[in-house]
Amino acid sequence: MADPGPAAALEYVRRLHAVVDELVAPLTARHGPRLACRAGCAGCCVDELTVFEVEAARIRAEFPDVLASAPGPAGRCAFLDEASRCRVYAARPYVCRTQGLPLRWAEAGVERRDICPENEAVGPVEALDAAACWTLGPFEQRLAAVQSARDGGVGRRVALRALFGG
Ligand code: SF4
Ligand code: SF4
Repeated sequence: MADPGPAAALEYVRRLHAVVDELVAPLTARHGPRLACRAGCAGCCVDELTVFEVEAARIRAEFPDVLASAPGPAGRCAFLDEASRCRVYAARPYVCRTQGLPLRWAEAGVERRDICPENEAVGPVEALDAAACWTLGPFEQRLAAVQSARDGGVGRRVALRALFGG
């Protein structure tokens, strides 16, 4: 893939996020009240999250005011406010859009599954049909491909906390 440039990469990321949201919606509806995910629940918003630069660029473009403010305290995501709500929710990265769903992925040819411990009311994830889970891999690969096109194959990532102050 040729370097799309910053504007087209940003548009690509916005479209990818929109597609992810469309695909997540029926899964969220399917698992319904068994999911404990809600505004203010932030156990998954850990401080160590890193994202590809192309996703960081969306936060930079849409939330410069947040990035010019003080980061939240260390120990959890710097974007959480005092009520544990995400301050960049509309531009949050891909990984934050699928958290809480039953997840499935392949590891050395073996399928693995997991779910947030808060969402165990969904039942044993191993018993779910594949269509009831979010499949990790395809969207990560698309983001990696556009990042690689932007930086010549480096695949640069940045810590969310590092976006503050410049
Ligand atoms: S960006 Fe928002 S949703 Fe993602 S980990 Fe940080 S606070 Fe949570
Ligand atoms: S994934 Fe878990 S910790 Fe995160 S919002 Fe959902 S229930 Fe809360």
